[in-house]
Amino acid sequence: MTYQNYSLKQLQQVDAAHHLHPFTDHKELREAGSRIITRAEGPYIFDSEGNEILDAMAGLWCVNVGYGREELARAAYHQMKELPYYNSFFKCSTPTPVLLAKRLAELAPPSVNQVFFGSSGSEANDTALRLVRHFWALEGKPQKNRIISRKNAYHGSTVAGTSLGGMEPMHQQLGGAVPNIVHVMMPYAYELALPGESDHEFGLRAAKAVEDAILEAGPENVAAFIGEPIMGAGGVKIPPMSYWPEIERICRKYDVLLMLDEVITGYGRTGEWFAAQSFGITPDTITTAKALTSGYQPLSALLVGDRIATTLTEKGGEFYHGYTYSGHPVACAVALANLDIIEKEGLVERVKNDTGPYFAQALRERIADHPLVGEVRSFGLMGAIEIVRDKATKERFEGDGRAAVVVRDHAIANGLMLRATGDTMILSPPLIWTRETIDLACERIGKALDLAHKDLFA
Ligand SMILES: *Cc1c(COP(=O)(O)O)cnc(C)c1O
Repeated sequence: MTYQNYSLKQLQQVDAAHHLHPFTDHKELREAGSRIITRAEGPYIFDSEGNEILDAMAGLWCVNVGYGREELARAAYHQMKELPYYNSFFKCSTPTPVLLAKRLAELAPPSVNQVFFGSSGSEANDTALRLVRHFWALEGKPQKNRIISRKNAYHGSTVAGTSLGGMEPMHQQLGGAVPNIVHVMMPYAYELALPGESDHEFGLRAAKAVEDAILEAGPENVAAFIGEPIMGAGGVKIPPMSYWPEIERICRKYDVLLMLDEVITGYGRTGEWFAAQSFGITPDTITTAKALTSGYQPLSALLVGDRIATTLTEKGGEFYHGYTYSGHPVACAVALANLDIIEKEGLVERVKNDTGPYFAQALRERIADHPLVGEVRSFGLMGAIEIVRDKATKERFEGDGRAAVVVRDHAIANGLMLRATGDTMILSPPLIWTRETIDLACERIGKALDLAHKDLFA
């Protein structure tokens, strides 16, 4: 590769001169220079200085089968030689999206059988938003178009994704969201539960916020509720087990569609193929992307339930929506090979029965007691560590998120890539992690917490 003719310093200079990065303060980036990752193998990434870093984020919640998978490279190579691209518009199709759609219908809950492809989670949510509004219009209820979401939700970064999401700084920069989307409280017990309120009660109260929003708008005006089964970018917020079944009950009661954004939770992260199965609910749409190809190709799949699909096919009329790369043959070939790996290696069962419980226990027994840690929580292979100044009062450090950045920087320097969002450290390791990898990660987290403690109380 030509980058090898460049020194690290030169690459960083060219990067700063020409490359605008996502979710980045460009003034800061120019001052600090970027960290350049040059290769990866299994659970490890390597930067241009040769440092080996255990990747506790699976890239960005996506490289679930780990790096360096020969089978995925071969699948892409063969498909590119045979048919690199053809579109799925105008009554055309190619083999791999057809086979992938069938495969996904088999993995999804029983009443979810249709698939609309895109290239990113944001695109898939854009499709989902347009599809549910189109559905109600076909049903003769065009005014039933309001969508209820949650504060701090993340549904992507396009205009529709930002509008559906509940991230305030993103809304501020957007300068006008897609109309008729409202945001209610999130199911985040650590900060929002009342004194003496049980987890179960809190879950029901957080669900009630959705019912209140439906009643306030009038059920005849509400199209759908959308939520991440476990909020990811918002800080791995795991709802009480009472929350989702109650949400489902409320949606059915008022004839409001239930949209799940499983861009992070899909394909095994929670110990089931989909978190819908972990929480025992049947949604009308499931947005998926990221781990569908383990990040080896950009691809998203919006899984669509029978109710919407039946109306779409019976009423007819064109759905004016789609992308050049909807059903991209190469991306779909890689997804099929990726699903083969997940199945062959039993990764979903491993998360459910072995590594998931072990991860939870390791966080609880080795991390939770640290003086900087307010709470640890996990579900499958998704975890969070709350950083606080005072365990008992849950008081945070000043400078929103500054303390977590100190922990993160020590973790990276000690060979562990994780992420900080606000004052929460988040982990989303590849599903190939073993008990030994979890041990190693905990050792490095412990070291990072100790060093951060010294800095923060210096
Ligand atoms: C990452 C993410 C998205 C957006 O996916 P992109 O591929 O970045 O567009 C949407 N929803 C959730 C829950 C995500 O985590």
